[in-house]
Amino acid sequence: MMELIKAKGNTYYFESPAKVGLVLLGDGTCVLIDSGNDKTAAKRIKRTLDEMGQTLVAIYNTHCHADHIGGNAYLQAQTGCKVYSPGVECDFTNHPILESSLLYSAVPPRPLRGKFMLAEPSVAEPLTADVLPTGFSLLPLGGHALDMVGIRTPDDVLFVGDVVSAPETLAKYRVAYTFDVGNYLASLDTLRGVKAALFVPSHTPPTADLTELLDLNEAAANAVAADILDLCRTPRTHEMLLKALFDKYGLTLTFSQFALVGGALRAYLSWLLDTGRVEPLITENYLYYKAV
Ligand SMILES: [Zn+2]
Repeated sequence: MMELIKAKGNTYYFESPAKVGLVLLGDGTCVLIDSGNDKTAAKRIKRTLDEMGQTLVAIYNTHCHADHIGGNAYLQAQTGCKVYSPGVECDFTNHPILESSLLYSAVPPRPLRGKFMLAEPSVAEPLTADVLPTGFSLLPLGGHALDMVGIRTPDDVLFVGDVVSAPETLAKYRVAYTFDVGNYLASLDTLRGVKAALFVPSHTPPTADLTELLDLNEAAANAVAADILDLCRTPRTHEMLLKALFDKYGLTLTFSQFALVGGALRAYLSWLLDTGRVEPLITENYLYYKAV
């Protein structure tokens, strides 16, 4: 765990539950892409950078989920490095309580305040093209999170965050967390037209050709949408739909999955409502979703 692997040229990544990119800038300084899931990961990263004689100057976050920004606070406190996050992800990085509040729609109860759901705050500034070193660029990839970005390094290695899930994760859990399904599908389409020497997804091995993963993730999203639409042929409430999906996919509900998969379900329902395939039906103070 946290093994440092060379991707290409001066671009490396730490193997961890959510990969952390490392780019050596050539003058003894370096930058990270994301920061690992917690303080323990951050300590290991810091130790490796010390052994390499590298000074960390900045962390560029692809998005604000706890497993991507969890090392920010420790590394910033230890090194004084800058932290940058894109768009509204910056506000969430400064105030991670917003992310778990978004998932629950209210102050998050204890099961949603563990380190997997709630990172420590760090002091982040907006991640825009003009704060990147020469040769880096950004690719907007919203949908999984509001304003997630891909980050391309000067070695033509493109870190794509959580835009694709691993095949084994999709096979097991079926529903990947999605905030905005329409935007997510558009991001998958965007990536079909993008070339890079190497793509580095956070949770599955790097690849020079992302096509198979894009196909798999798009098919999985469309299958979930079709299943929800099919279930809505009998009007069902959100919780009835959530139970039906868990039963259909052989999953066991937990509190955190209630928030994550329940949130993704609401994203699918928003998309189906906005594209005219589902309509709300309110009867006896129940809100049902009904296929059109
Ligand atoms: Zn994520």
